Amino acid sequence: MGKVTGFLEIDRREQKYQPASDRIRHFREFTLPLPESEVVEQASRCMDCGVPFCHGPTGCPVHNQIPDWNDLVYRGEWEEAIRNLHSTNNFPEFTGRICPAPCEEACTLNLEDMPVTIKTVEQAIADRGWKKGFIKPEIAAQKTGKTVAIIGSGPAGMAAAQQLARAGHEVHVYEREPKAGGLLRYGIPDFKMEKHLIDRRVAQMEAEGVIFHYGVNVGVSTPLQELLDGHDAVLMAGGSEAPRDPALPGQELAGVHYAMPYLVQQNRRNGGEAEQENPILATSKHVVVVGGGDTASDCVGTAFRQGALSVHQLDIRPIAPVKEDKLAVWPYWPTKFRTSSSQAEGAEREFACATLGIEGRNGRVTGVKCARVDAKRQPVPGTEFVLRADLVFLAIGFAHPLFEGLVEQSGVALDKRRNVLADDLGYATSVPKLYAAGDMRRGQSLVVWAIREGRQAAHAIDRDLMGETVLPR
Ligand code: FAD
Repeated sequence: MGKVTGFLEIDRREQKYQPASDRIRHFREFTLPLPESEVVEQASRCMDCGVPFCHGPTGCPVHNQIPDWNDLVYRGEWEEAIRNLHSTNNFPEFTGRICPAPCEEACTLNLEDMPVTIKTVEQAIADRGWKKGFIKPEIAAQKTGKTVAIIGSGPAGMAAAQQLARAGHEVHVYEREPKAGGLLRYGIPDFKMEKHLIDRRVAQMEAEGVIFHYGVNVGVSTPLQELLDGHDAVLMAGGSEAPRDPALPGQELAGVHYAMPYLVQQNRRNGGEAEQENPILATSKHVVVVGGGDTASDCVGTAFRQGALSVHQLDIRPIAPVKEDKLAVWPYWPTKFRTSSSQAEGAEREFACATLGIEGRNGRVTGVKCARVDAKRQPVPGTEFVLRADLVFLAIGFAHPLFEGLVEQSGVALDKRRNVLADDLGYATSVPKLYAAGDMRRGQSLVVWAIREGRQAAHAIDRDLMGETVLPR
């Protein structure tokens, strides 16, 4: 259980960031990893609680065995630690960087606001595993003769593909984009996670037998029926891409964009892909971001790196309390005031703020009209104000998967939120041989949930094809 008295003797220490003034000059990751001796100390703080909420359903969607690997790190057994971590999570170097870490909220030491730095330890185990050569392709000893097609190479598709290839199936991943990773590559900026980490996993998966087909838009460039005819099972893992439309007056003005085209452009630029026509750049501009979530925050950080003059972020929610009522919410994810690293780079944040419309001149945006809202989120008359804007990003979330193409062609039943209908035991859709997982099934969520869904869908597909399975759920 780590060091018996570790949590009494050692304070929580997190990895630090480069100062904002330095990190906004580049798009690379900016965390400063803890030295190994400090990671070991931090892992030794784990108390191995009788009920470790960190790896239960409230703490970790993939059920990482956190107390076990904290103990292994404390004992210096790093190779066994990465083996343990991989038994529940295919890509811990991704989640170690970008997971919001509900496990730390669920840690018993969080009752004293000093949770174990679980995410930092996870990243350290994964990074060390790669550096020391502990992570190798795991090639199936026997082939099953079955073939599975996976549509989409986001974290859900990648996790499913890796599991199914290791179970001995011939796995083909069909991806619309020129490279694998889904939102990990094209949505999430490099400064949160560099993309060579995805390339390294793709190389591992190729060595395990996964065949990637890029530039294939299933339902558009290739009919879904072709995949259904050519494979024993097909998994749809195409994500949830339709943005929520705020339907603001003036939204059609030049300079107003949804968040994704903006983030995708910068990620393609960083990745050396061809420059887009009509580049969207915040350089020397006043920027307003509408929305208070991860995507909005990523627009903020990207705008600062492009040299924006100012960035305002508008959130309709009231400002949350700095500290949660621990005994009322622990071990669940609390609503509390949080500042992302991008917001800390200098964003002006407006809370309880409704966006009434976009103002412009000669067809171009000049400002955003706002008002304060009451407890029912209704604008309060007389509180209107206008923020200057040369560029506006709409980042209020995603509604459901795109229908045009794949979903439309598949004819699958949808749930009431218009995601693809399938339960989280069988992952089967209403169409025979066709499964669904990740954001396409559960709606826009988190990378760790996508990995869980990919693993569980692989379990279900393997069981359906073979009559039994040894793949974990
Ligand atoms: P996706 O990652 O969306 O991948 C779907 C893939 O399918 C894509 O590659 C797409 O090109 C492909 N595809 C779609 N249709 C077709 C088709 N017809 N044919 C072929 N290919 C197709 N989560 C976190 O945990 N931490 C974060 O910090 C975080 N930040 C985020 C920032 C942004 C800007 C966004 C948008 C999301 C963020 N998320 C974050 C959420 C997370 O990225 C998603 O929940 C996760 O990527 C979903 O995985 P997925 O595999 O289901 O889908």
